[in-house]
Order: sequence, then structure tokens, then C-alpha cells
Amino acid sequence: MSDMKLVVVGAAGRMGRTLVRIIAETQGAVLAGAVEREDSPHLGQDAGVLAGTGPNGVLVSSDTLPVFARADGVLDFTSPAATVGFAAYAAQAHVVHVIGTTGCSADDEAKIQAAARHTPIVKSGNMSLGVNLLGVLVKQAARALDADFDIEILEMHHRHKVDAPSGTALLLGRAAAEGRGIDLAGHSVRVRDGHTGPRPEGAIGFATLRGGSVVGDHSVILAGAGERIVLSHHAEDRAIFARGAVKAALWAHGRKSGLYSMLDVLGLA
Ligand code: NAD
Repeated sequence: MSDMKLVVVGAAGRMGRTLVRIIAETQGAVLAGAVEREDSPHLGQDAGVLAGTGPNGVLVSSDTLPVFARADGVLDFTSPAATVGFAAYAAQAHVVHVIGTTGCSADDEAKIQAAARHTPIVKSGNMSLGVNLLGVLVKQAARALDADFDIEILEMHHRHKVDAPSGTALLLGRAAAEGRGIDLAGHSVRVRDGHTGPRPEGAIGFATLRGGSVVGDHSVILAGAGERIVLSHHAEDRAIFARGAVKAALWAHGRKSGLYSMLDVLGLA
């Protein structure tokens, strides 16, 4: 089979540059396009030069549809508004859409779900093997330990991150809620400030730290009377997310339309 032709949208971003580098290292995948926003200072630049891998002849463009039309898949780590637009374009062009963007609203999710009727979409708040495995372990732990164990999720990211809690913290929160057989939205405590009163029983709490260059640290703490279990993941390099995203694209190539997760890709569902 010929190489899967991939487009990186947000190609000048932190994840975009990493994706361009990882595609160059991956057998069975080739970079077919690089897209940035219309006002990006990087339009017309060589995506390989931007990524630090040397020129590859793929110039950064904002002309999305023609770029999508000559591709098999799109890797998208941008912003919620951009991702919703790209999902519609990917559906129109019938190309695989891998979405790593976090911070999507319920309305955004509904639009992505609608696009998935026309093309395969893989979406995950974290594309790494380690975090997806951690999610499975958190679900098991939350199921095994009853509500006497309070669940708190702590995350830290670099100073540029714009959404909170992180997509990964929410993914881990959902895993814990599934283990407990409860709905996350109805049980999560996202912020604490001032006189909060005692902790509501069965709540899943979130705490957010921001600073420096941290790629992504997550801990799920199950705190009981007299003991505490801590399940953690530390991302040291963005390459783990990029490798997962490319793997997801190759996995989804030729699959029927639908919304898939990294658990499907990794066989952990
Ligand atoms: P970034 O700000 O460095 O990069 C985002 C890029 O998208 C920028 O270059 C920006 O110009 C571009 N962009 C924005 N709107 C666009 C549009 N309409 N058209 C084309 N390009 C557009 O951010 P980042 O650190 O690379 O993170 C991007 C997203 O990926 C965030 O939501 C982040 O939380 C998420 N993320 C997810 C994972 C995961 O595994 N799921 C891992 C890391 C980051």
C-alpha cells in the first residue's frame, strides 16, 4: 500500500512542528500539506525548516480545502474553533481527522460528532500510550475502592496553555467517574476558593498548576482514611502525543465513518 498522505494543521504550533518531525520518521506516512491560520507569519515557509528537520518542499498554506483534497488524513492540534471548521472540511473531503485539540465545548463536540457521520475521526484529550493506559488503571481503581476514597486529579502544564483543567485531566476524571458508575459533570469540583464548606461525598476534584515548560504532569489521588493511592504520568516530550496521533491516523485509514478514541486505536477499549 502507498504511504498515507497526512496534512498537519496548526503546522507552526508546538505540536504542529513535532508532528511534522514525527511524520518524517514514520514508515507508511508522508507529509502532504501544512496549514496555518490566514494571519500566520509562517505562511509560505517550508514546514520541514520550521520543524527543524530540513527543507521538505511542503509550504505552509491557509488554503485548507485544496490541501485536504489531496490528502488521506489530517492531524489537528489547534484550537476548538479551528477544529470544528476542520472537521467540516475533513468530512467534505472524506479524509481521516485526528483531533488532539482540547477545551472543546459541548456544542463543539456535537459538531465534531456530526462530522464523524461522514468520515472517521479519532479524538482524544491525550494521544499517548501511557495516559490511555493510566485511564484504564484509574477506572479499575475507582471501581475497586468505594466512595470512602476521595478522588482528586492534579495537573501541571507549561505557562502557555490556555485551557483548564487539561483535556487529559478531564479524560482521567471521566475514567474515574465511569469506574464509580457516576456522571462526571454532576460530580466534578473544578475550582475551590474561599469558604467552600466540607468536601461533597463522591466528588471528583480537579486542581490546576501552570508554569515553566512542563509538557504535562498528571496525578490521580485516591485518598482514604489512613492511606492514599497516587497514580501518575509525566510527559517528558511532545513526541509521545505526535507518535500517538500518527498511529491513530494509520489505524483509521480505510475504516468506516465514526468517532473513535485512542482506547480504540490502542486496543484498550
Ligand atoms: P500552539 O498554540 O503552540 O499551536 C496551535 C497552532 O494552531 C498555532 O500555530 C496556531 O496558529 C494554529 N491555529 C490556530 N487556529 C488555526 C486555524 N484556524 N487554522 C490553522 N491553524 C490554526 O498550541 P499547542 O501547544 O501545539 O497545542 C495545541 C492544542 O493541542 C491545544 O488544545 C492543546 O491542549 C492540545 N494538545 C493535545 C494533546 C493530546 O495528546 N491530545 C497533546 C498536546 C497538546
